[in-house]
Amino acid sequence: MIPYGRQNITQADIDAVTEVLQSDFLTQGPAVPAFEQRLCELTTAKYAVAVNSATSALHLACLALGVGPGSRVWTSPISFVASANCARYCGADVDFVDIEPESGNMSVAKLRQKLEAARDNNCLPQVVIPVHLAGSSCDMKQIHDLGQQFGFSIIEDASHAVGASYQNEPVGTCRYSDITVFSFHPVKIITTAEGGMALTNNLQFAEKMRLLRSHGITRDADLMTEPSHGAWYYQQLLLGFNYRMTDMQAALGLSQSHRLQSIVQKRQLLAEKYHHLLAELPLQLPPLDKINKSAWHLFIIRLNDKTTRHAVFAGMREAGIGVNVHYIPIHTQPYYQQLGFDWGDLPVAEDFYERIISLPMFPELTNEQQKFIADTLARLLA
Ligand SMILES: *Cc1c(COP(=O)(O)O)cnc(C)c1O
Repeated sequence: MIPYGRQNITQADIDAVTEVLQSDFLTQGPAVPAFEQRLCELTTAKYAVAVNSATSALHLACLALGVGPGSRVWTSPISFVASANCARYCGADVDFVDIEPESGNMSVAKLRQKLEAARDNNCLPQVVIPVHLAGSSCDMKQIHDLGQQFGFSIIEDASHAVGASYQNEPVGTCRYSDITVFSFHPVKIITTAEGGMALTNNLQFAEKMRLLRSHGITRDADLMTEPSHGAWYYQQLLLGFNYRMTDMQAALGLSQSHRLQSIVQKRQLLAEKYHHLLAELPLQLPPLDKINKSAWHLFIIRLNDKTTRHAVFAGMREAGIGVNVHYIPIHTQPYYQQLGFDWGDLPVAEDFYERIISLPMFPELTNEQQKFIADTLARLLA
């Protein structure tokens, strides 16, 4: 089976992890700060906080922004459940903003409408979490403008978008957001096996997330409530978690990060090739934006005739092509239905869901495999 996504591991990656295994520190050594530093260089963000998953990063980002019981957090329904769950961990109420059908990203027009209605009903959100679906940035400038106007904070869920650009700057600058989150799960652009990173230009947010990722414990005497008892002493200031990234993971991520550009370039070439191969088929292709460059985590096609989706999907799998669907609208998950959401709430997202198929997209995908994928798709749609 050709998978829909796959990690890219080189001998250099293996050597980097091996070196950590032979060193003094498997965790809490020098590799984590080195990887954080590297992500700051790649994105120009001032601070980076490495954690054990993007889910943890989203949770800490919500907490750093003061999300708690009674808070309102809005996100996109076309995302992985973690984009919404992070707010639920904090006891907040979640709501969803419908998408634009071309990119699958949160619609700025729908967001504005929903904000205007919320202002009239006195229920504006504290935080909005746009998701850069498939690696293509949301219109962050406009979302940021709305944030200024309506007074909400912004977390970019850029789990798909490390290495992407927006208005000629890397995703992760946090120019138009408070915090940006990356995922390093193996199917994502670069990997640490499990892992995530929160980037910010705000020192208070960074310090809060650092404290919370390790039990809320500090060894910094300046933060303590009484004089240190000695060199062993630490204080727990907050109820935090064990969300730390290990040095083995950070070494892998650091090694991978040196290939970020070439990995994204390769994905871009694969996307262009798909555009060429699939141009004549009865389906819509994801936009090839030359200015806001996608990282091409996913290649999501939309079938013109949604009644064929089931058969096309099954036929592709039968042919050994590991297609997938990204995503089942979050609000239709039983957990969210129990909270009062239902089918029909977000019609554009639901229509999108019924048409989409994610084609295989990973750096080692060959020309022959792509041709085979395109030919199979053409056959099934004929
Ligand atoms: C993968 C993903 C996450 C969660 O990432 P983990 O590192 O697996 O926790 C969150 N949001 C989106 C959009 C994702 O695709």
